Amino acid sequence: AKELGGDNYKFYTHAMREQLGERVQMESALRQALERREFVLYYQPQVDIGSGRIVGMEALIRWQHPEMGMVAPGRFIPVAEETGMILQMGAWVLRSACQQLRTWQCEGRRNLRVAVNVSARQMAERDFVGSVADVLREAGLDPDCLELELTESLVMNDVEHAIAVMHQLKKLGVKLAIDDFGTGYSSLAHLKRFTVDVLKIDQAFVRDLTVDPDDAAIVTTIIALAANLNLQVISEGVETLDQLSFLREHGCYQMQGYYFSRPVPATAFGAVLDENEAR
Ligand code: C2E
Ligand code: CA
Ligand code: CA
Ligand code: CA
Repeated sequence: AKELGGDNYKFYTHAMREQLGERVQMESALRQALERREFVLYYQPQVDIGSGRIVGMEALIRWQHPEMGMVAPGRFIPVAEETGMILQMGAWVLRSACQQLRTWQCEGRRNLRVAVNVSARQMAERDFVGSVADVLREAGLDPDCLELELTESLVMNDVEHAIAVMHQLKKLGVKLAIDDFGTGYSSLAHLKRFTVDVLKIDQAFVRDLTVDPDDAAIVTTIIALAANLNLQVISEGVETLDQLSFLREHGCYQMQGYYFSRPVPATAFGAVLDENEAR
């Protein structure tokens, strides 16, 4: 920026300083939020439309800020990633989600799994697998009730390491899903070596599924790919009956989206389950 000289130089440094200031502010706010327990988990049902039953839920973090109100993860996860705070945050999410599922199980709600998002940093941690095992043991949860959602970019950071960790996680007995499938960079050659159970179709492809032939082609191809590789497939971002019908016709029976329910706090999720069971 220096060679731009004059006002430009001032402009850029000012903008950069401001940005840096925001970062630092956000970082200390996040640190405080962890101490003050300002984070909460929301849960969004995953539905098997063959049976009509809720088979699981995805845990999604929210920040209940005393002044800013509810902050969406899109605004703070990137900062948490950059600063490394995602490690503490991710550990909290994993523990809370497992304990919550165990609580629901103790209340007699059976056959549910919980899906938890995992960041690249967590995956790269020295003993990530050990910490997952600890959390499961402490919560008294069966490993196959836990599904970890990994993104392709996460996996591509260091393919060999990721594959090794995936193998260990499989050995532990947890389920693995590739989140936002089709939006990342993983090649089919890699997919063959990933010990995943589930492909999760990104909502970007689902949104215009019924009007955009390209999106329709991509979605049907992912469904076929999953079937041929003997993997389960789930769609996220299902908002309409038309989308649901298309997906069902093409062989995708697991879905998540506003059509069924928005993500809701744990207390409200109980009611969502009751309603589903009453059907
Ligand atoms: P994601 O994992 O792809 O999660 C799905 C996002 O789509 C969620 O946004 C969810 O609320 C939203 N969604 C669900 N159904 C619909 C629908 O029918 N239509 C539309 N338009 N959107 C729908 P959310 O909760 O804001 O989370 C955004 C992203 O933040 C997540 O994307 C995930 O990448 C990240 N995230 C959330 N919680 C965690 C966490 O605990 N750890 C990590 N590492 N990342 C998280
Ligand atoms: Ca996810
Ligand atoms: Ca997703
Ligand atoms: Ca997504």
